[in-house]
Amino acid sequence: MDEGLTFTVLGARGSWPVSGPDMLVYGGSTTSFMIPLGDNVTVLIDAGTGVAAVDDLDTAEPQQYHIFLTHYHLDHIQGLQFFKPMYREANAFTFYGVPPDAMSLKDAIGGIYRAPWFPVPLAETPSSKEYIDLDFAPIEIGPLRITMAKLTHPQGATGYRIEGPRATVVIATDHEAGDVDVDDNLVGFATGADYLLHDAQYTPQEHHELYEGWGHSSWQDAVNLAERAGVGQLILTSHDPSRTDEALSRLIERAAARFPATLAAYEGLHFAI
Ligand SMILES: [Zn+2]
Repeated sequence: MDEGLTFTVLGARGSWPVSGPDMLVYGGSTTSFMIPLGDNVTVLIDAGTGVAAVDDLDTAEPQQYHIFLTHYHLDHIQGLQFFKPMYREANAFTFYGVPPDAMSLKDAIGGIYRAPWFPVPLAETPSSKEYIDLDFAPIEIGPLRITMAKLTHPQGATGYRIEGPRATVVIATDHEAGDVDVDDNLVGFATGADYLLHDAQYTPQEHHELYEGWGHSSWQDAVNLAERAGVGQLILTSHDPSRTDEALSRLIERAAARFPATLAAYEGLHFAI
């Protein structure tokens, strides 16, 4: 079971899903990542629209899904509404997250299932569910060891470090660099990682002129962390919804001029973990 695990990008777009002829290379689905562990167990990080393409109809076996949420902004959970495995009674879900202020994890997820915005209440989806509040203690699921770090984002967000049998991945999808303590902690958190998936929603100019305080980084911030932490591969993600394939390719070129092992997340990108 420890051999052959794969980490797959299901969605890499920030803020809202997009489509069109200029969005084909990197895709338009919002953030979600998947690690099937075998034995009917799957780990997901975030459940943006990218997760809605996943189905388990090819098996009659009950499935266990462990879903780690970075935060509760819609682009990270809205795929759950149309995640078909949620509607199968035999399936079991465990959700992990830092509860938002004055709300339980269950209510934060259930909010998107409420009338008049959605017809099926979370309690009426047939699968079984449990909810685990993260206290930043390490969690082990099969061969994966998962640790957490605080990110800088409106209403908070959580970064994940996932150590697998063959590689270590650090995920910082929604993070605005600039808080020295948080950033210094992230350097230690990402040190030695084979892959760093990091928010690069903006160019440095866009961030400086238009979007300071919006909770996202520029590619330059992502490169800075990758350099400081000495990661093997930087994977830019949380792409701006207006960023065309061509514009994104230019953004990657600029980032790779500073940190050569840079690419951008796209739907279907996968690697061994
Ligand atoms: Zn967000």
